[in-house]
Amino acid sequence: MSNAATRLSTITSRMRRACEAAGRDPATVSLLAVSKTFPAQAISALADCGQRAFGESYLQEARAKQIALAGRDLLWHFIGPIQSNKTREIAENFDWVESVDRLRIATRLSEQRPEALAPMQVLVQVNISGEATKSGCAPEDALELCAAVAALPRLQLRGLMAIPAPTEDPQCERGAFARLRELHRNIAASGRVDAARFNCLSAGMSDDLEAAIMEGSTQVRIGTALFGERHYA
Ligand SMILES: *Cc1c(COP(=O)(O)O)cnc(C)c1O
Repeated sequence: MSNAATRLSTITSRMRRACEAAGRDPATVSLLAVSKTFPAQAISALADCGQRAFGESYLQEARAKQIALAGRDLLWHFIGPIQSNKTREIAENFDWVESVDRLRIATRLSEQRPEALAPMQVLVQVNISGEATKSGCAPEDALELCAAVAALPRLQLRGLMAIPAPTEDPQCERGAFARLRELHRNIAASGRVDAARFNCLSAGMSDDLEAAIMEGSTQVRIGTALFGERHYA
């Protein structure tokens, strides 16, 4: 097996075991391969093994790879912080945006989403651990933001995303994911979003995917365990 195939099968086994431990159907958790800082060839190798969804955090870097891989039938998720002057290029070139944390950004994405494309699939990012330096809306603001995003014509609100603060304590780890799950459930039940579509919970990375799956994650975002250590230029 290629390196990419080995890493992919290690991750899918971890996901399957976590689903078994949680009493969940493995088909309910999808894998987003987080390819930021890795070259187009690394994406191509994983795509050859059947992986279709890739997550990127830096727009210019992502665009170069999208152009190199045009025609490969991949799904692109934008997962990084979004500045207002970047929304048009994101609206034109991604299938999903997981990092919407304020209405101004969502409004621009909706206005700038080309008519020829399907509605942008959107997750609202929540700062679930309340870290001062992190992006994401405050948990207490999430319902209002979700309700406003749900009303925008060219977006489809699909759920929540979070990056909990790193912790060595498994109890704390699960606690943050549990709060996210509870928030997701409350918003879905609020009557202010389309509950049938609001069914995605993007949580869990290379080090904590098991805890996230125990607490209801429907999509894990895996970088290091698939591609190796990142080296920032
Ligand atoms: C980089 C990144 C990941 C992947 O993290 P790993 O620990 O390398 O698996 C997941 N989600 C977001 C939002 C990221 O920026």
